[in-house]
Amino acid sequence: MKNALEIAQIPAEITEKWQEIIDLLAEVLHVPSALIMKVEPPNIRVFVCSDSEGNPYERDELACLNTGLYCETVMKSRQLLLVPDALADQEWNANPDIKLGMISYMGFPVAWPNGDIFGTICVLDARPNEYSELYRKILFQCREVLQTDLKVLQASIDLEHKVLERTAELRRSGELLQKAQTELAHATRVTTLGELTSSLAHEVSQPLGAMSLNATAALCSLDLENPDLGEARDALRAIIMDGERANDVIRRVRALTKMNDIQKTPLDINDVIKDVMLIFRQEALSHGVSLSQESASALPQVLGDRVQLQQVLVNLLMNGIQAMSAVTGRRHELRIRSQEQGPDHILVAVEDTGTGIDPQNADRLFSAFFTTKPDGLGLGLSICQSIVERHGGKIWGASNSGVGSTFQFTLLARGQVH
Ligand code: ADP
Repeated sequence: MKNALEIAQIPAEITEKWQEIIDLLAEVLHVPSALIMKVEPPNIRVFVCSDSEGNPYERDELACLNTGLYCETVMKSRQLLLVPDALADQEWNANPDIKLGMISYMGFPVAWPNGDIFGTICVLDARPNEYSELYRKILFQCREVLQTDLKVLQASIDLEHKVLERTAELRRSGELLQKAQTELAHATRVTTLGELTSSLAHEVSQPLGAMSLNATAALCSLDLENPDLGEARDALRAIIMDGERANDVIRRVRALTKMNDIQKTPLDINDVIKDVMLIFRQEALSHGVSLSQESASALPQVLGDRVQLQQVLVNLLMNGIQAMSAVTGRRHELRIRSQEQGPDHILVAVEDTGTGIDPQNADRLFSAFFTTKPDGLGLGLSICQSIVERHGGKIWGASNSGVGSTFQFTLLARGQVH
């Protein structure tokens, strides 16, 4: 990976300042050429070039390294190089700059704060030049200015990186926090429901059992032949039947609280819908509701708990019936639809022709204990949500554009990773 400094663009305000330094340098030292060179292997670039007469170099011109340039030696030795007269110097009389007429050279290396070489700052002349001690000092000071600018630049790059890293870190921890909050909210809902329903079931089942027993005993002890006691007998039978129904409800609630013992098997959701329609037919008939099913064929299977998914449908159908019994003067219809949803979910929708959903309640429907019914517990939809989420899906409800409302839920199709 390239380090930040290699890819760093030198900002315009720095190059403009360096241009002024280089122009001044050429003027003060009376040379045709002052340069700042930047190493970009395998080349070296004329990064800043004095705007002076007789200067044979041009900005952005590239020269190959490893060709015996003055600047190469400066960068390798990391020291001042002074060549007063290349033509008279065996070591330098064949160097490439002679072709451009530059026969004397003075240059310093320029380094990034971490020690990496940036390039050089140098002056060249078309005639022999000894470059006085003063000129050396001036060039050295210019080099120091360049290195200070690079230090400031690196510090700002480092800072920018730190800010970026910190921002990414914050974003990551923000996402984690959000996920944890969602999971916590879900866990809390499930535990509260679980605890509440099981303690309710426990509280109710004992007196209910005693009531059924007493009613059965009373029925047995009644004189079966006595016509005056007919009403009492009917009342006792009704109590016993209600008791059985209540016990059945408690069994179901208890089963629901054991949501962690979820028994997942491969299921065809259309079969689950058919089961529920069968169970529900009588209930629908007695409320004058027409019940219909519209299923897409060959739906992918889901891996699910049959009883819990039946429970979701029963809750939604019961709510539909209750919402319809509150309105008169229109047909009461309940329709269950199933279809594929995207590549890995299936969708089930329960449509009714009831009251629809009051917009001000729309956000609270799935909250535990939210109810608008005088005798409601406000747990039905919240239980549905827990079950659906345990099947890798989502549930939502909305008023229809015409009459009534539709509750829809998705389930993860079998074979998809949850
Ligand atoms: P409960 O049935 O005990 O009120 P639920 O959690 O099942 O509890 O429902 C919460 C509330 O959502 C209901 O009181 C009702 O206001 C609203 N609701 C649920 N289903 C429907 C529906 N099909 N049409 C209109 N409102 C509904």
